[in-house]
Amino acid sequence: MDLGIRGKRAIVCAGSKGLGRGCAEALAAAGVEIVLNARGAEALTATANALEARHGVTVVPVAADITTPEGRAAVLAAAGEVDILVNNAGGPPPGLWSDWSREDFLRAIDANMLSPIAMMQACLPGMMERGWGRVVNITSAAVRAPIAQLGLSNSARAGLTGFVAGTSRQVAHAGVTINNLLPGIHATDRMIALDSRTAAEQGITLEAAAARRAAAIPAGRFGTPAEFGATCAFLCSVHAGFIVGQNILVDGGAANLTL
Ligand code: NAP
Repeated sequence: MDLGIRGKRAIVCAGSKGLGRGCAEALAAAGVEIVLNARGAEALTATANALEARHGVTVVPVAADITTPEGRAAVLAAAGEVDILVNNAGGPPPGLWSDWSREDFLRAIDANMLSPIAMMQACLPGMMERGWGRVVNITSAAVRAPIAQLGLSNSARAGLTGFVAGTSRQVAHAGVTINNLLPGIHATDRMIALDSRTAAEQGITLEAAAARRAAAIPAGRFGTPAEFGATCAFLCSVHAGFIVGQNILVDGGAANLTL
């Protein structure tokens, strides 16, 4: 299927690895020019070069922390006018509800709620003026089915979800859609880190921890960044203009929900 977005311009935040990279890869394959962000310059440049070589599009790397005002300013300055915004950042650490301080909450809210909101506030006016735009926020399956030890993530992402619910309906008339993609378990560095922690806590191997987790997913496996990215690219396509303000689970059926 031709996604109809060849030549569009995108910002992909936190995209040198994992799910962000999957989104960047799928957009590049659809012919989208990309400003690609992550903090670590080495992996970022390697990813940008790989995408350019594979897909023949321009990929401009901007090494910056997207959770800081300076980082966002650098990304926005490099991008200029954008048609597509993919918001992403690292997730907050796991822990126990009783241990988190006000500062822990503020850090999580800054990274996973206020940063994507600031990026939307910067990009939406131009998209609306030009009559076309797509925003995809990478959130988490925990928005629909909370994961107890990820309470910082549950809390911050709930705030972002509320913002998107209202705002998406205020900008849709201008041809701009905002949707959230909710990853379940995907094979990325983040998952290796979480499985390593489980393995250490339970005295089992990393492979055993991963297998145990995969067995609990109806699809029987972890998702891949490639299939997650393809879903993101579809939401950014010309075909998805009537999908507005949705929270789309990509989780292999793991959340046991009817709706
Ligand atoms: P990942 O494999 O660890 O990759 C994270 C990417 O984001 C890297 O490119 C990293 O590069 C970049 N990054 C992290 N913090 C950043 C920051 N402050 N500014 C700019 N770039 C930053 O993570 P992932 O698994 O793809 O997860 C992506 C998001 O989805 C996270 O918020 C995670 O909580 C959420 N999620 C993931 C899963 C899953 O199964 N993987 C499930 C539910 C939710 P640098 O470190 O160099 O900056």
